[in-house]
Amino acid sequence: MSQENIAEVWNEVLSILENSISESTFKTWIVPLEPQYFDENNFVLHTGQALAPSILRKNHYSEISAAVKQVVGSELEIKIIFDEELAKTFSKKAAKRAAQLEKEAADTSEQTSNGMKYQYDSLTQMQSSNLNLKYKFENFVVGSNNKLAYVAAQAVAQKPGLKYNPLYIYGGPGLGKTHLMQAIGHYIIKNKPGLKVLFITAEEFVNDVVNALARGDEKTKKMNKFRKKYREVDVLLIDDIQLIAGKTRTEEEVFNTFNTLHGSGKQIVITSDRTPKEIPSLSDRLVSRFEWGLMADIQVPDIETRMAILQNLARDTNVDVPNNIIEFLATVYSNNIRELEGSFNRVTAYASINDVPLTIDNVKKIINYSEKKKSFTFDGIVDEVASYYNISPKELKGTGRSAKVAEARQVAIYLCRDLTQQSFPDIGKFFEKKHTTILYSYDKIKEELKINNALASSVSTISRKINS
Ligand code: ADP
Ligand code: MG
Repeated sequence: MSQENIAEVWNEVLSILENSISESTFKTWIVPLEPQYFDENNFVLHTGQALAPSILRKNHYSEISAAVKQVVGSELEIKIIFDEELAKTFSKKAAKRAAQLEKEAADTSEQTSNGMKYQYDSLTQMQSSNLNLKYKFENFVVGSNNKLAYVAAQAVAQKPGLKYNPLYIYGGPGLGKTHLMQAIGHYIIKNKPGLKVLFITAEEFVNDVVNALARGDEKTKKMNKFRKKYREVDVLLIDDIQLIAGKTRTEEEVFNTFNTLHGSGKQIVITSDRTPKEIPSLSDRLVSRFEWGLMADIQVPDIETRMAILQNLARDTNVDVPNNIIEFLATVYSNNIRELEGSFNRVTAYASINDVPLTIDNVKKIINYSEKKKSFTFDGIVDEVASYYNISPKELKGTGRSAKVAEARQVAIYLCRDLTQQSFPDIGKFFEKKHTTILYSYDKIKEELKINNALASSVSTISRKINS
């Protein structure tokens, strides 16, 4: 079990590193690493290449450490150890692994025979598609929080360029935006091999613009190459578009690229942590273009959806996790699926490595429960909401009926329920309000969140603050 789990964890780390480390380094030094185990302090990797420990420590420690942190959820010491046993079998293993990848690749490329760029015929090219293999529709749990975005993404994947163009997906961190966007990419690559798909983060786009604009004789050539890269695709997926804010030349290029692609019926999908209007200094013409198609938000998932995500994870990683533990984790990590998954990985890995049973008490220790819980007190929530609305906590809990105070109160009630999963009567006692008032407030905000973007964005800002 421990091996299965660490393999899963390591696979996730790999999919992150794949995007943060150059392809050749990744292939030569990272892929051959053999994950051994990890605990609260260390993450141990073995290598059969004598030079790997020093090379990786010196040049790529921070990337590896950051990727591990992202997956496991805490900062671990990365230990890369040369293993002579492994050195003997290294070449054999590498050959076998390559063969296996090629076989998987061959299966995939049957369906993509015309997709030139996407013939997965070697490890290198498999990575060049730039998509995380886990981020597919099949692995996406649909709940009321992401239904609209999911349905729209499917429509776009099935008929790129014809419906919802652009599709603009927005929502808080760790809620599945990148996952959904890449699912569109996977689907099209698999089912419409003639189409060229390009996935890019806005950050990479900015870098490309900067490089193309760099001074020198090559400038025109570079700019042409840049335009070719972005304008000759059928499907352009741009992740985290808010990162172009304030970068005038990049905005200009996004604008031109958008017009060219949109004008010729090519599909554009954009994700962001906020609506176009909320991106500071984004020019009006871009705001209006981003709003042309469909804007679909992803909200914080409800408890059932969070549990379903963990259940899937347990199934996929072949780990037996009791239902009460799944429910417990889903309760504690209520508004960021990345953290939810990280906690799950940490807990299952720890339990299997140290051979401790998965009880609530043990799990609480592993995730430092008491510390985390502090920020989720009713008082803490009321403080944050009050400060967001610029009123005092006392006013918020009082009986004032002005629109602002009433909204703040209802939001606070909603968040107390959503973040702590405490019972309505308990929340009622705290606010000194009737149980029915609490229920009414909670339902009102919950419904309102589905249709009122401004409110949704306030609530997501506040919950992010409470969480940080
Ligand atoms: P975002 O881009 O919104 O910050 P990601 O798409 O990176 O979030 O998602 C964070 C993690 O949560 C990923 O591992 C992703 O697979 C997982 N995840 C998010 N939403 C879902 C979902 N509905 N079903 C399954 N996994 C999900
Ligand atoms: Mg993302």
